[in-house]
Amino acid sequence: MRTETGQVYKLTDYKPTDFVVERIDLTFELDPKETTVVSRVILHRREGVAADAPLVFDGDELTLDSLQIDGNDIDASLYEATPDSLTIRGLPESGPFEVTVNTTISPDTNTKLMGLYRTNGVYCTQCEAEGFRRITYFYDRPDVLAVYTVTIIAGKDDAKYLLSNGNFLGGGNYDEGRHFSAWFDPHPKPSYLFALVGGDLGLIEDSFTTMSGREVALKIYVEHGKEGRAGYAMDALKRSMKWDEEVFGREYDLDIFQIVAVSDFNMGAMENKGLNVFNDKYVLADPETATDADYANIEAIIAHEYFHNWTGNRITCRDWFQLCLKEGLTVYRDHAFSADQRSAAVKRIAEIRLLKAHQFPEDAGPLAHPVRPETYKEINNFYTATVYEKGSEVVRMIRTILGADDFRKGMDLYFERHDGDAATIEDFLACFAEASGRDLKQFALWYSQAGTPSVSVSTAWNEAAKTFKVTLEQSLAPTPGQSRKALMHIPLAYGLILPDGSEFDGQPDTDDAENGVFHLTKRKQTFTFANVPGRPVLSINRSFSAPVNIAMEQSAADLAHIARHDSDGVSRWQALNEQAMRHLVAVSKLARDGRNLPSAKELADILVATASDESLEPAFRAQALMLPAESDIAREIGSNIDPEAIHTAREAVLSEVAGSGIEVFTRLADSAPEGPYSPDAADAGMRALAGVALAYASIAEAHPARAKAAYDKSDNMTVMSQALQVLAHQFPGSDEAADALAGFKSRFAGDPLVLDKWYSIQAMTPGAQTCARVEELLNSDDFDRTNPNRMRSLIGSFSAGNPTGFNAADGAGYRLLAREVVDIDKRNPQLAARLLTAMRSWRSLEAGRQELARLALVSIREAGELSPDVGDIVDRMLAN
Ligand SMILES: [Zn+2]
Repeated sequence: MRTETGQVYKLTDYKPTDFVVERIDLTFELDPKETTVVSRVILHRREGVAADAPLVFDGDELTLDSLQIDGNDIDASLYEATPDSLTIRGLPESGPFEVTVNTTISPDTNTKLMGLYRTNGVYCTQCEAEGFRRITYFYDRPDVLAVYTVTIIAGKDDAKYLLSNGNFLGGGNYDEGRHFSAWFDPHPKPSYLFALVGGDLGLIEDSFTTMSGREVALKIYVEHGKEGRAGYAMDALKRSMKWDEEVFGREYDLDIFQIVAVSDFNMGAMENKGLNVFNDKYVLADPETATDADYANIEAIIAHEYFHNWTGNRITCRDWFQLCLKEGLTVYRDHAFSADQRSAAVKRIAEIRLLKAHQFPEDAGPLAHPVRPETYKEINNFYTATVYEKGSEVVRMIRTILGADDFRKGMDLYFERHDGDAATIEDFLACFAEASGRDLKQFALWYSQAGTPSVSVSTAWNEAAKTFKVTLEQSLAPTPGQSRKALMHIPLAYGLILPDGSEFDGQPDTDDAENGVFHLTKRKQTFTFANVPGRPVLSINRSFSAPVNIAMEQSAADLAHIARHDSDGVSRWQALNEQAMRHLVAVSKLARDGRNLPSAKELADILVATASDESLEPAFRAQALMLPAESDIAREIGSNIDPEAIHTAREAVLSEVAGSGIEVFTRLADSAPEGPYSPDAADAGMRALAGVALAYASIAEAHPARAKAAYDKSDNMTVMSQALQVLAHQFPGSDEAADALAGFKSRFAGDPLVLDKWYSIQAMTPGAQTCARVEELLNSDDFDRTNPNRMRSLIGSFSAGNPTGFNAADGAGYRLLAREVVDIDKRNPQLAARLLTAMRSWRSLEAGRQELARLALVSIREAGELSPDVGDIVDRMLAN
């Protein structure tokens, strides 16, 4: 195993390579245990580089078979090969030369799932971030762009399809029982976008005609027998291609676009040029096996990887510090796509929930880092919610500040100016500054300062003068490595809602506000509105225009006014959510102190009224009825967290809401659409509302019969899994729950993706007893420890999605995770490190749990040889 070197990489150390790669030809002879790789690289010495500077290629666990320069064996004294690098001296001072590197690798024993590996008999690669160096010695860094030609040779029985990036050059029989295929990718690309797939797979095909009339062949490869579940992914791909032409003017640039779904994959999917490799979870769907959420995820991830063709592939990153340049921007693009395909408000609400659930805790804990980090020890640990989700929010803010037209102009300029480049955040921002004539220097701090800014808001109404003042004040707490922070440019969308529910359209007395947006750039700013006809209610940070925490004293009546009248649907939800959160935080603190819990009648009345308001779309009502999760409440409380008390408090509120709306909920529980299943947004919204209502109705009735009946008659996975979750979480140990769980398992025994849901639902059953159940499942004979989806479904769901189970007061949950992380680390460090981040908020726990969590982290640190991935996470979590 590659072990920790302690090396720290710094953004400020960036330096181009000494040699320039012109092209690379790769030949693979595939074999499960001994795949030979011949890499011919044409290079020349960069101008100005010393004549004696050696060529240093990256490697990772490699052994060199042989090495030639311009076809001749090279004297052993002129090179040195270690598992991590290949250094060659005595190379020509000028002019191109060819280096031929021969290596042999073993796909079968590559359990890290980085580089070339096998999954269910299929050869596949994952090279981002640094997997290519596990295939051959090369400049494995994103600023080295080259044109690739790839030849793959394999037994016909071993691999029927042989695929790589770019366009198909040709293929045929090689020698007895073997065949080959050759691929050429005319677009220069970095090595992390290289891909190879070889295997016997099922195939579905279609085609797309681009806006300039070119025909592109579309192919999706899946396991045999699963072709019928790839239709939705194909449909989503065609819609993505069309959307990118219409909204961003981006056309696809090869003759073929291929997607391969594999079952063992560390990430969601990978945007390799022309040959995307996907976790099959994000390709396969049919009504019987996939939920509405699965369909939405497939649509979003197919789009995301496709959109990378321009934001990531045609324009890539200069170095890994710029990861957000491709990820934040592409997440922004896939969000915009999904918003156009579905209800924009409901989509935005889901984004806000996700950001607050995953990114805000990261920003508030020991793993906080800027959207563009300035140092790293292990780049694999920076595929984070901050880089992706907050990175997307930053792009969204650029659009808010510039407006739609100038934003598009800036994007056009970026595509035009940097096509074929390995670019930086500075390059990106310069395009928007130039296109709009705005100064974005202060705004650029969003890329370099970690932490979630806070904005305190106060208002003053002068009845006699008819003036309304809004005062905003910003602050940003220290984060690891950043004790002092500069003032940020925070764009806060707002509205003033008058007593009659209409919106005041006057402007404040300052230039720092335009088009309904306050530009907070100083520590404190006041905005005064004159001639306001009556006391308005301020709706601030509409649609979550800036990823900040707002501190504002706003009465329940004012929140209710926003919830009723705001013209922005997201803001109406924000007001409802704020009201629910306030109550839940107050009640949780009382529960922690062992006090009596007050009534939630006011909140219950509002939620029940919302549930039955037919003028609101069902998906919105479902979102409004979903109380903040226990982890959200914990984040809001911030310190001295007692997960048990939060659970008790939230259950009490749920129960009161359920009781007061029992008639509405029992009616809505039966409101799922009839007839054939459609994954469209309208039907999915109705199912979401029916699902939330089923949970409330079951709580009110304190009996599992309704959920069991829903389970038994369900004809699609959305309704089935909703009902199973109600049974397992609300009525654990009941005969109905046991019966449904057993039935589900036997029905889907042959379908790992569906079985993952079965593991996940059980792992998230609230209560300390779940830890023992997780142990039992982990140790059962049919549990596949090598499959990342399976590990995430059990260990990930338990540690990140079960606050009372994972944080059991005796520390058993922490010990389980620590033990598993150390074990997984030996095979798959990336997965181990990712699972471990579930403990990132350990310091906000109450003292007893905090100490047990610390001991578990120390036990990992002391477990012996750790990978750089896990070593880095555990050190940052334990640092003071
Ligand atoms: Zn991406």
